[in-house]
Amino acid sequence: MSQPEQRRILRTAIPGPRSQELHARRRQEVAGGFGIAVPVFVDRAGGGVVVDVDGNHLIDLASGIAVTSVGAADPTVVDRVARQAERFTHTCFMVTEYDGFVEVAAALNRLTPGDHDKRTALFTTGAEAVENAVKIARAATGRPAVVALGHAYHGRTLLTMSLTAKNVPYKEGFGPFAAEVYRVPSPYPYRWPGGPEKAAEEGLAALRDTVQSQIGAHNVAAIIVEPIQGEGGFIVPPAGYLRGVQEFAAEHGIVFIADEIQTGFGRTGAMFACDHEGVVPDLVTTAKALAGGLPLAAVTGRAEIMDAVAPGGIGGTYAGNPVACAAALGALETIERDSLVERARAIEAAVLPRLEALRESCASVGDVRGRGAMLAVEFVRPGSTDPAPETARAVAEACHRAGVITLVCGTYGNVIRLLPPLVIDFDLLADGVGVLEAAVREAS
Ligand SMILES: *Cc1c(COP(=O)(O)O)cnc(C)c1O
Repeated sequence: MSQPEQRRILRTAIPGPRSQELHARRRQEVAGGFGIAVPVFVDRAGGGVVVDVDGNHLIDLASGIAVTSVGAADPTVVDRVARQAERFTHTCFMVTEYDGFVEVAAALNRLTPGDHDKRTALFTTGAEAVENAVKIARAATGRPAVVALGHAYHGRTLLTMSLTAKNVPYKEGFGPFAAEVYRVPSPYPYRWPGGPEKAAEEGLAALRDTVQSQIGAHNVAAIIVEPIQGEGGFIVPPAGYLRGVQEFAAEHGIVFIADEIQTGFGRTGAMFACDHEGVVPDLVTTAKALAGGLPLAAVTGRAEIMDAVAPGGIGGTYAGNPVACAAALGALETIERDSLVERARAIEAAVLPRLEALRESCASVGDVRGRGAMLAVEFVRPGSTDPAPETARAVAEACHRAGVITLVCGTYGNVIRLLPPLVIDFDLLADGVGVLEAAVREAS
């Protein structure tokens, strides 16, 4: 099946009648706890386009939350998945072995930051990778505590929800939370009290102070950091912060975990976001874009840390499912063969100046930031830095009505984030950004 036409086409209002009908049925059948960004039902998708059941072609600036970097129907992924599904769909890697698991591990050992001896463990979801990274760090250090940042997002399971900073909707009503989780301020440049130029130094001072005075460095197993914070608002840490965390962790025998689940595999214009600063974490968690849309996640890191867990200590029935591994090998092949890391940089070059022009001309745009194809606009009440979630919502809804899928994020719900597939056609991208610009001007 060929790719859908790479053009924005509106045949009905969004959502159209067929989507509305299916959505009404969903309300009767599906648990209400699932949110929805754009209530359209999908018929097919590929490249930078999502085709709904009413025949509308929407421009995809979300990639299913940074998952379909190679598109939602990449031929290399589809072909490898089909061939693997014919051979076998499952054995459980803890029952009998298969080569795809080992090949994905080798690829991650090769691609992740640092050229030290590495091992990889595969899992199914991002949250599961984060949980296991913490388990591995605890086993390797014999220590209990984990330090996470303000504005962090690490998942929805008990431990990862506890590591996540934002209460509504992720934590409200779901306590009590996991013990031995400590939080230090995120060095959020736009909102750092002493100004952006102080954020790295003061953020690191706060980390050192919390670890030494409130926890005791000898009790800390791990510090976990998203090298660009995702759900929290696409917050790019100030230069030097990640390196400072790495050095502090190394000094005290603390495992430095980089959660690259949203930032990984070229998204930010480097294979991993840590690469922008030459930072080498002890453990890296990956998921999302790893397998071109199939569920697969990983922890990759220093062999001596990874191997601290005795056989049987980590795993999972579906961990490293063979079809998902085939998809990952296809996605990684496409990313490397088609130079999608460079493409992410080209997307930044095409889009960021247009967003910066919006910041200059619209008082409701407080900040514009991001790297590669992970870009964001933060909305404020004009003349202040007070968050304006209602503006972000209005802009997102205007985009959706015009056939452009955008997502809101941020602790204050006032950030629009752009996560186009890295393979998106540049005319399509320009059209999508034009719709966003018009929506921002209208809302301002
Ligand atoms: C999405 C995400 C997770 C959780 O991944 P799931 O597959 O949804 O469990 C963890 N960390 C970060 C940084 C993420 O963006």
